[in-house]
Order: sequence, then C-alpha cells, then structure tokens
Amino acid sequence: MTYDVIVIGLGGMGSAAAYHLAARGQRVLGLEKFTPAHDKGSSHGGSRIIRQSYFEDPAYVPLLLRAYELWDRLALDSAREVYRMTGGVFIGPPDSLTVAGSLRASRQWDLPHEVLEDAEIRSRFPNFTPNPGDVALFEAKAGFARPELTVQAHLDLAEKAGATLRFGHEVLEWSETSGGVTVRTAEGTFTAGQVVICPGAWAPQLLAEFGIPITVERQVLYWLDPVGGTAPFVDHPIFIDENDAGAQIYGFPAIDGPRGGVKVAFFRKGVECSPDTIDRTVHDHEIREMRERVADLLPALDGPCLHSATCMYANTPDQHFVIARHPESANVTVACGFSGHGFKFVPVVGEILADLATTGATAHPISLFDPRRLVTTT
Ligand SMILES: Cc1cc2nc3c(=O)[nH]c(=O)nc-3n(C[C@H](O)[C@H](O)[C@H](O)COP(=O)(O)OP(=O)(O)OC[C@H]3O[C@@H](n4cnc5c(N)ncnc54)[C@H](O)[C@@H]3O)c2cc1C
Repeated sequence: MTYDVIVIGLGGMGSAAAYHLAARGQRVLGLEKFTPAHDKGSSHGGSRIIRQSYFEDPAYVPLLLRAYELWDRLALDSAREVYRMTGGVFIGPPDSLTVAGSLRASRQWDLPHEVLEDAEIRSRFPNFTPNPGDVALFEAKAGFARPELTVQAHLDLAEKAGATLRFGHEVLEWSETSGGVTVRTAEGTFTAGQVVICPGAWAPQLLAEFGIPITVERQVLYWLDPVGGTAPFVDHPIFIDENDAGAQIYGFPAIDGPRGGVKVAFFRKGVECSPDTIDRTVHDHEIREMRERVADLLPALDGPCLHSATCMYANTPDQHFVIARHPESANVTVACGFSGHGFKFVPVVGEILADLATTGATAHPISLFDPRRLVTTT
C-alpha cells in the first residue's frame, strides 16, 4: 500500500495534520513512536493557555483568529470539551513585555480588552496581590485548551476520515526518492508522495540534516493546593504575571476538582536537555522556588505541591516557529521549534500543513516561520 502523505510524529501538530489531510481525502499514514496522547513529549499536563492578545508578536494574531474558529469546530466535531473560555489576566509593570506587548497586539488587531490598574485587579480578582504600580490587560477571549483531549480528538477524527495510524512505530530514517519519500521503521518501510514531519523535541535527531538550530529545554508544572481550598480558584481566569526582573509565571483555574489543585509554572525557565537525558524528577528546591514566587502574587495559593510533571520546549533562537515546505525538496514539509507557545495554534497548524503538503503553498501568513532565517549557509 502506498500513501499520499506520511505524517511522522502524532503529538500536537502531527495529529492535527493527519486529521486535516485525511479530511481532504488524502490517503494518510501516521507514525508515532509512543502511545496516543502520551506524556513524554510536549503535549501533556492537562491544560494549555489560549489567548489572542499576543505579546510575542502581533503577526500571530490572524493565525489565532483562525485557530479559534477551528477550536470551535473541533469541539463540535469531537463532542469533547477541548477548550474552555475563562478570560485571561496579564499582569506586570506597564512597560513589561506581558502588558505592553499584549496591549500592542490588541490595539493593532482591534481585539476587545480592558486595562486594569492595581486596585482594580485586586477588586475584580481578589486572589491576586499585584505589586503597587502593576497593571493588567484583561482579555475575555482567553482560556485554556486540554492537550491530551485535543490530540485524542484529532486522532479519532483522522481515523474516522480514513487515516491509518500506527503507534509504537519509531521512524528510524526517512529519505527522498524520485517520486516521493521512503520512511523506515523497525516494523517496516513505507512509501508516499509526501512526508510531513512534526517531531517536537526530537527535531534535532529527525531533522539533523536541515541545520535548524533547535535546543530542547526541560520545564516543570506544579499543582499547588490552595490554603483555603480550591473554591476561590474555580471561577477564575488564566493568568500570566511578569515581575520587575522580566520573569513570567502563568497559571490556570482549579479545573480538576477539589483535590486537583491549581496548576502554575514558570514560562521559559528551564535547563537544556534532550528527550533521552531529561531529569523527570522535580526537586524540593524547585517547588520552594515556585511557592516563593506564588506567595507574592497569589498568597492563597501558597499551599503544598500535590503533584508535578516535566515537559519539553523545543526552542528556536528567536522563539518563532518553523513551518515550511523544505526549501530544496518538494516532498517534505516540516513543523517544529514551537518554543513553548505552540499549542494554542494546533488546529490552524494542522490546516497549514495540509495546505503545504497538498499544494505547496498556504494562504495563511507564515513568512515569520521560514526556516531560512535560521540556517546559516557557508
Ligand atoms: C510545560 C509546557 C507548557 C506549555 N504551555 C503552553 C501554553 O500554555 N500555551 C501554548 O500555546 N503552548 C504551550 N506549550 C507549548 C506546546 O505545548 C507545544 O508547542 C506543542 O505541544 C508542541 O507540539 P509538537 O507536535 O511540536 O510536539 P509533540 O506534541 O511532543 O509531538 C511530537 C511527536 O513526535 C513523536 N516522535 C518524535 N520522534 C519520532 C520518531 N522518530 N518516530 C515516530 N514518532 C516520533 C513524539 O513521540 C511526539 O508524539 C507548553 C509546553 C510545555 C512543555
């Protein structure tokens, strides 16, 4: 059996690509080294922030507008709560990236938002004790996605649309042939016209020849037990807080019941690792550091750590994604380097990858993600 497209890696991006390709009538083979919606890559831990007032760069906003349409459609088609709107509060000094950057994107794209002074933050969201002089941008259209449910929803819909999905199939090698690609696994060799490679933290191995400089970073997620119980955190916005030193933390409402705690994490505070060497143990000093940071911002949250997990970012030097047809190869499409902020884009990345693999182009604005910006040729 030969396929139109082989998708390598069925995590966040690959599962969405497999679905969008199969829905367009492509004969799809998806190959994944682990199990469906596993916890060994970058797409686990129960929740991911979604927001539109994008402080990273306003150029992402059109993609987010389309992603939100597709989040809605995915929720309907899969009959699962793959995302929930809670509102989002982005707190920091007025000139911080979190506040000034979010405001810039909101104004440029005319996104509904409110700016709150420190006293207003305290009165509307009494769990927060921001520093005097801090401000917040409040965005009603922010919330969280459920990563494992999302991956599973895309996998199920892909299969329903006719895709063949193989788990426990590690790709050992892929290469181009005159008419397409050959992909080798321990279980067999497969051929197709096109390959879409979505390797997450395994990009340095699977895409070595591309020369895209990706570093993998260990991140920790903490579920803290609020001192007065989870009730005040149930009807609560997602949040990002930036301190005077420019360090950001983020967190979620209590979404896993009275014993589930409240999830918080540092944004971009990790050590370099590789999928083979990552330290999966969360150490006491790390928990202490998180509780100290939380004690300033959300004193009610400064209770014991119920549970923790590690996860990997796959970072490019400028923290923008890589999404492209291979510049020299018409049969190869890649999506990698999501740099710790890719999940909210999962459905639209699936759509873009389906465009690129079937037509070689996309109407979505993706010039920011061109790998040639990162590859130095000699
Ligand atoms: C702690 C943490 C918090 C985050 N928070 C947010 C957030 O709030 N909002 C947000 O938008 N984003 C967030 N992100 C980022 C987002 O989750 C990632 O950008 C996204 O999940 C990346 O998806 P991916 O498909 O590239 O990687 P993955 O989902 O890891 O998928 C890659 C897949 O490829 C498979 N694979 C690799 N090598 C092979 C091989 N040789 N053969 C077969 N299969 C292979 C892997 O097993 C894996 O399943 C966060 C990430 C982390 C780690």
